[in-house]
Amino acid sequence: MGESKKRISRRSFLGRSTAGILGAGLGLSAGSDAWGQDRTSADDRKQMIRGYRPFGRTGYKVSDISFGNAGMQDCSLLEYAMERGINYVDTARQYYDMEKVIGQIFPQKRGKLFVTTKLEPELFTTETTEQQIQTAIEESLKRLNTDYVDGCLVHSVGDPNLGGPERIRNPAIINAFLKAKKAGKIRFWGASSHGPKMVEDFEWLLDNTDIDIIMPGMNFLTKGLEPVLARARSKKVAVVAMKSMSAAKKIDYSKYMKDGRTARQGLIKWMLGQPNIDTISISMRSFEEVDEFVAASGDPRLSSREKKVLNGYASLLSGDYCRPGCDGCLEACPHRVPIHDILRYRLYFNNYGREKYAMGLYASLPEEKKASRCSDCAGQCAGSCPYGLEIKSRLIMAHGELTV
Ligand code: SF4
Ligand code: SF4
Repeated sequence: MGESKKRISRRSFLGRSTAGILGAGLGLSAGSDAWGQDRTSADDRKQMIRGYRPFGRTGYKVSDISFGNAGMQDCSLLEYAMERGINYVDTARQYYDMEKVIGQIFPQKRGKLFVTTKLEPELFTTETTEQQIQTAIEESLKRLNTDYVDGCLVHSVGDPNLGGPERIRNPAIINAFLKAKKAGKIRFWGASSHGPKMVEDFEWLLDNTDIDIIMPGMNFLTKGLEPVLARARSKKVAVVAMKSMSAAKKIDYSKYMKDGRTARQGLIKWMLGQPNIDTISISMRSFEEVDEFVAASGDPRLSSREKKVLNGYASLLSGDYCRPGCDGCLEACPHRVPIHDILRYRLYFNNYGREKYAMGLYASLPEEKKASRCSDCAGQCAGSCPYGLEIKSRLIMAHGELTV
């Protein structure tokens, strides 16, 4: 990344935006292949999205790297990402005011973005009515300042804390989405998950509904999702990967890279090289991060140096990283301590820089479910993790970190 890019300020970016840079090049229409056209200087071209992929059967082509930022408070970062060729944004009702912040650039730039939002996870139960889902969609449209969203997802399927598999088999869900599609409120519907039972729920949805999009948590360290991704591809269901760098922020291996490349770019390239993924939703929290991530677009080939770095990274983190979508320890604790949730909160705390958020999530657990009880426990969870995590010691550490 060049020094000039590192030093870019929000003020200078906004100045350039008003000069009309944002309007150049991108047109969003079904079947269009005119995305990511070359613009401006050679330096700018270096930082542009270079890969656009068909998005399932939707007829759209989306940037291989897409924009996420739960809690975003300023739309200029999204506009900057759009300038770089990103045309897909992922948000959710749960992401604080992110829907409203995105809405600040509409209606002017509405046609340049594929917008996917997710309805509240707790909305979806066996008792949920079509009307409740329709109301939730309307509320999201209002916050987004638009009269339609491109993708509308059930947030967090495969989460046993929210209910068993019957939760997403409620016919009201599918009926409500179909009606919203007919009414032009949503273009496509789907489901997201990083929960322990995500494979089971995604498989059911793929086999029993006309779902358009799935959004699984996966990365360099996860295993076991490939068959469900292949099934999605065979049915022309779009796949958006998330949590692709969720273990990456703790250790920066970039000093082992060359030519200013970063280890995180290696992780993105690895993801882009996996079959059956259409785009990767990445949390981007600064202009520098947008540039860093966009520079990995287009070419998934890993250099031998990148492969070495990723292997070193994997061996260092493997015994410490709790994988999304894993249910190995789900039944291991006789006290029903939610191991995977607490380890995820720890990840938010240590790796995402979201300390308050992580502590708030942990504080909301009932006292008897907290890891405070692990200290005096015989540790029946030992050996249950297929990746070799020492669960008890990790939970005791998590309790210390996440408690005021
Ligand atoms: S140490 Fe004990 S209480 Fe803690 S997760 Fe393991 S089995 Fe449950
Ligand atoms: S601790 Fe291990 S077994 Fe439990 S969810 Fe995490 S990765 Fe899976």
